[in-house]
Amino acid sequence: RIVAGDKQDEAETSIEQSLRPSSLSTYIGQAALKRELSVYIRAAKKREEALDHVLLYGPPGLGKTTLAMIIASEMQVGIKTTSGPAIEKTGDLVALLNELNPGDVLFIDEIHRLPKVVEEMLYSAMEDFFIDIVVGQGPTAHPIHFPLPPFTLIGATTRAGLLSAPLRDRFGIVGHMAYYNTAELEQIVKRSAGILNSPIQEEGAHEIALRSRGTPRIANRLLKRIRDFAEVSEHHDSIDRSIVQQALKMLQVDDEGLDQTDIKLLKTMIKFYNGGPVGLNTLAANIGEETDTVAEMYEPFLLQKGFIKRTARGRMVTSLAYEHLGISPDKK
Ligand code: ATP
Repeated sequence: RIVAGDKQDEAETSIEQSLRPSSLSTYIGQAALKRELSVYIRAAKKREEALDHVLLYGPPGLGKTTLAMIIASEMQVGIKTTSGPAIEKTGDLVALLNELNPGDVLFIDEIHRLPKVVEEMLYSAMEDFFIDIVVGQGPTAHPIHFPLPPFTLIGATTRAGLLSAPLRDRFGIVGHMAYYNTAELEQIVKRSAGILNSPIQEEGAHEIALRSRGTPRIANRLLKRIRDFAEVSEHHDSIDRSIVQQALKMLQVDDEGLDQTDIKLLKTMIKFYNGGPVGLNTLAANIGEETDTVAEMYEPFLLQKGFIKRTARGRMVTSLAYEHLGISPDKK
């Protein structure tokens, strides 16, 4: 699915790496969060302390991993990267913590998916920089107090609501990642096109930005695909609006960045549920997707676009969606 914000098992190729901005000054958008972080980073450096723990939350593909890497680089410290599901046992966490140098960053993506026992071990590690490891079994079991160097935990999550309160409370800095506006996405597209050596016109970049669902990862992905179309086209020596429109028509991405699944979701709500209200589980089952996928990948963007709204009784299609689909609300 080309307009999904998630990683989709894409290998982190050298192209992907080259597209990642490497400093706060080249990181486009998220202005308020960047301003805040820049103050905390300068203060922590001045005090020669580790930066306070940071929680970044927001939909996939908005640049949480990139920002974590930038924080480590601006702090001039090392970074270890892992994810919630990759830390299966407390031993895995001990191994990671053991490798940290003073001030280093430990980045845990999808932190809401950490096993409970691992999460509990993180509490003392985050708060007082120690862990207690139990060695031996039965009557000979005893805890060993294991001090840790001061470090910064950066947690990223698409579902802040799923984090337990004790874990959430241990983050001193909480950053909400917002969808990017068109002007910011346009800048990202132009910057990426420059890195990829792809000539692009102003209106071409604008058109890609409009259809990228507020998400840099989608903007870059669309750019890479459209670049292929432009390169094989005999009539285009740069990416202009018409090649973007042609390519996205073939890729079935409409002018608001909606793809076939979004359309199916909206049409299902209209056709079978009179526009709603309908529960998330029912809706997911109807379009053959997992509830989590609908909650994380489809719904936030459709809500933000104003195509659906949440009510106490479920999700409802709005008049904007009827208009976009060209369906009259009376003739469902
Ligand atoms: P996930 O939660 O799925 O891991 P993420 O939010 O961590 O996603 P990243 O992997 O950091 O997202 O970013 C996705 C891509 O978007 C990166 O390859 C990066 O090049 C680009 N990108 C993200 N944010 C920005 C930005 N502010 N400026 C320029 N490019 C960006």
